[in-house]
Amino acid sequence: MTKEIYLPDEIKRFINEGAIFYISHSGGKDSQAMYALVKEIVPPNQIVVVHADLGEVEWEGVQDHIQTNIDHDLNVVRANKTFLGMVEQRGMWPSAAYRQCTSDLKRGPIFKFIRNDLKERGATIAINCMGLRAQESTSRAKKDPFTYNKMQSCNNRVIRHVYDWLPIFYFVTDEVFQTIANAGQEPFWAYERNERLSCVFCIMGCVNDLRHGAEQRPKLFRKYVELEKKIGHTMFMKGKDPISLDDHIGIKVLV
Ligand code: SF4
Repeated sequence: MTKEIYLPDEIKRFINEGAIFYISHSGGKDSQAMYALVKEIVPPNQIVVVHADLGEVEWEGVQDHIQTNIDHDLNVVRANKTFLGMVEQRGMWPSAAYRQCTSDLKRGPIFKFIRNDLKERGATIAINCMGLRAQESTSRAKKDPFTYNKMQSCNNRVIRHVYDWLPIFYFVTDEVFQTIANAGQEPFWAYERNERLSCVFCIMGCVNDLRHGAEQRPKLFRKYVELEKKIGHTMFMKGKDPISLDDHIGIKVLV
């Protein structure tokens, strides 16, 4: 049995009022399950799928995977800078507390797309759908799964109301995979070994996922290790001391 989506009354009302539902799709299991469930309750012409492309730091084939598992066109957006370029310019890696990568490379370009697309459609209500789940972390568990996004809304010359909705907020991991199976789909192949699918080398990745990334993408792995050396700042710490990515995962790179 598929677990039910989190569906507040406001969402039911917005469906009837013709709101546009923007599905932020990373290619990961949570996005995939979210899409499968949202399309069951929202008419197809009110769904738009958007992916923030992070270029070489993503897993190869992610966009093909998304396209294979959706019935809609895939809108791909990009920031005007790259992940590694951003790190080099700043001389620091992002951190869990300061996730410039998410804000600048994902959220920013996706909201820009939403603003423009909503305007082109002559619509005024956007529902920004994200696959975040309470189980992922204590800080995520404190989030409200349905909120009015004041920053992205406006009510003067341009009328735009943007809401953030987390349809699978209360799902646990097994329920996510079950939802994908019930939709007759498979998750992205890297889940055979990965716990999460994100950047190949995520600043919050576990050693298991990072090792898998290093094995699959050795050239990209080398780039990360070289960049750490170049800027004198590491992605990870061991206690209070910095530790290089290759030492952190136990796969040595000679730079
Ligand atoms: S996956 Fe990790 S490294 Fe990549 S943008 Fe998200 S938080 Fe940053």
